[in-house]
Amino acid sequence: MVYGWLEGGQGSTTCSARLDSAPFLPLAPSQRPQQDEDGHTDSSRDEDGHRHSSRDEDGHGCPKPFLLPHCRGSSHGQSRIIRSAYPQEYYSCMMPECFRLWQQLEAETGTTLYRQTGLVVLGPPREPELEACRRSLGVDEVLDAAALSRRFPGFRLQAGQVAVLDSTAGVLFADRALRAVQEVFRRHGGTLRDGEKVLSIQPGATVTVTTTAGVYKTPRLIITAGAWAGAFVEQLGLRLPLQPLRIDVCYWREKQPGSAGLGSVSPCFLTLGLSQAPHGIYGLPSIEYPGLMKVCHHHGSPTDPEKRDQAPSSAPRPDIAILSSFISSYLPGLETQPAVMETCLYTNTPDEDFILDRHPKFSNIVIGAGFSGHGFKLAPVVGKLLCELSLGEEPSYNMAHFAITRFPGVLGAAQ
Ligand SMILES: Cc1cc2nc3c(=O)[nH]c(=O)nc-3n(C[C@H](O)[C@H](O)[C@H](O)COP(=O)(O)OP(=O)(O)OC[C@H]3O[C@@H](n4cnc5c(N)ncnc54)[C@H](O)[C@@H]3O)c2cc1C
Repeated sequence: MVYGWLEGGQGSTTCSARLDSAPFLPLAPSQRPQQDEDGHTDSSRDEDGHRHSSRDEDGHGCPKPFLLPHCRGSSHGQSRIIRSAYPQEYYSCMMPECFRLWQQLEAETGTTLYRQTGLVVLGPPREPELEACRRSLGVDEVLDAAALSRRFPGFRLQAGQVAVLDSTAGVLFADRALRAVQEVFRRHGGTLRDGEKVLSIQPGATVTVTTTAGVYKTPRLIITAGAWAGAFVEQLGLRLPLQPLRIDVCYWREKQPGSAGLGSVSPCFLTLGLSQAPHGIYGLPSIEYPGLMKVCHHHGSPTDPEKRDQAPSSAPRPDIAILSSFISSYLPGLETQPAVMETCLYTNTPDEDFILDRHPKFSNIVIGAGFSGHGFKLAPVVGKLLCELSLGEEPSYNMAHFAITRFPGVLGAAQ
């Protein structure tokens, strides 16, 4: 996705953003691909001197890269939850700035990017993460089963369970948000290059990036390659414990349209500490498809992003069974089989915290990865932090939880 942080100064723009597509690497205008005397980049000829278009098979046996917008990564679709409630204080402390920066983007582009719906966190009372969410909100709005179904008639809690209400939360319109960041990035002088795949990165005082369309030289580089990041940074001698997961994105039809207090009027929700779904389940009101609520398991099956479509259709879908059982108990106004199913990718770290750090050996290369299914809402602050790391500035937040070296054995054969 796009990690936006634009810093104006003397009319110039420093930017840590990269695009949501095939390659995007931050380049100063003076660092365009090297061109020959005809204005063609030096990888646009094959060994026999024949010219290739960057839209062609790239001559390195690589498939065509993605054009914007694309749905092969993690950031596509129309909706993502944004909330203040977080079990971890090191994320909840970033949320006020995230809300502010998303609002700033709305104002700059004249686009509505956010709808406030509220969110309920469902779980057993005294569950440590649920308690931490309650503390992160600084208010004490805890609903029992009766209070929850009075307030939100579509929801049922099991005996003794509670719901913590985050009234600041809502839905970010994801596709629109990506377009807005790209627009502002261009307005500030940035260049987006889609349909161009990064093939190799040579570290050094000047980093050399070879793509299917050219060779770029840059003093600083930020890599945010999503589900491809793990394989990608191996060439830089890093073994990051990143696991791409294939996520079933499921939409569920109301049994009686408009009667269940669900549909478009529902709040978002997420579960914590339910024994039937230890990884959690989350849901959003109807946005993408009228009358269908998005309810997903916050987990999936390990996959290779290049082979995610090769899973046989007969493969077991444990996620659907978990979701069906949850829906029949907690959202009885919905049908118990999904009406629409799509797929998306998470890239998980073992502790589900992000990786935001400089390469341990090449400090002018910064890596942002492992967003573990909760990175969208935090993108404005993530962009700012990546920018600060890249410029050698003191990061605005405590970075201890995002360090590469928290994982043992990451430094393999760094060149
Ligand atoms: C179903 C689903 C629901 C989610 N819900 C929420 C939510 O409610 N709230 C929330 O905060 N977060 C949510 N997330 C998580 C959030 O969407 C992700 O954390 C975030 O989008 C990750 O962005 P990314 O930049 O890491 O990956 P991507 O957006 O996939 O970007 C990586 C990009 O790198 C490009 N790339 C890779 N290799 C190369 C190469 N060699 N050359 C050039 N380009 C390359 C890819 O083409 C891709 O465009 C959800 C995710 C999913 C899948």
